[in-house]
Formats: sequence, structure tokens, C-alpha cells
Amino acid sequence: MSEIEITGGCLCRTIRYTATAEPTWVNHCHCRDCQQQTGAAMATWATFPSTSVTFTVPPAIYPSSDSAERGFCARCGSTLTWQSRTGRGSIDLAAGTLDEPGALAPREHLFWSRHLAWLDLSDTLPRHDEWRPKT
Ligand SMILES: [Zn+2]
Ligand SMILES: [Zn+2]
Repeated sequence: MSEIEITGGCLCRTIRYTATAEPTWVNHCHCRDCQQQTGAAMATWATFPSTSVTFTVPPAIYPSSDSAERGFCARCGSTLTWQSRTGRGSIDLAAGTLDEPGALAPREHLFWSRHLAWLDLSDTLPRHDEWRPKT
């Protein structure tokens, strides 16, 4: 029996996490909140069922909007999580904090309307102006 165990954590290793499910989605997000929280051109998020993710120490939480909150390490500042404040069925983990971030397969760009003009990407993933359209 193969058990899934995806691990990661913050830069200073105070906070470590384990996910016991495959990510249900992986996206690049170009929204201003992600740019500001990460300090980078975009954030890459891996979405997991929230019941599948456990933390050694709970991340500090910043309510970044009425609808979302962002988790980070209060010691080293690493961006760790994004979670809807209403639908708590899933949690996004910042892909760069995974122990094996290269194993992910991003599927789309969100908030492409906000992407930085100097960001030159050649992938052929769908580019949504804002959220993924509801299907
Ligand atoms: Zn840390
Ligand atoms: Zn974003």
C-alpha cells in the first residue's frame, strides 16, 4: 500500500507540514495580494484537501481580504498558505516551500490581467484574467 506523503516547510524550519493527498489543483497566481505577500512576480499554489494537511506549528495568519487569509512563518517570514475564509474544504500551500517543488505540474495562470509586463513566460497553460471561470 503506497501512502502519499508530501512534505515541506518554511525557510527557518520552525514550521513543517505534511500533506497525505495529491494536490487537487496547481496554479500560478499573478494577483496583487500574491505579489505583495511573496515579494515575487507571482505565486505558485498547490491546492490540497484541508483535512489532508497537518502542521508541526500552526502558521501565523493574516486576513488579507474579507474572503481569504494567508499563513506565514512569524520567525522567517516564509509565505506558506492561502485559504478561503468561507469555504474551508481546501488549503493552498506555497509551492516554493514544498521539499520537491519541481514535482508539481501547474495547470493555469490566474489573474493574468495583473501579470507584470517584464515576466516572459513561454508555457501554453490557460491564462485567466481573474479566477478560473466557474464550470
Ligand atoms: Zn520559518
Ligand atoms: Zn493571488
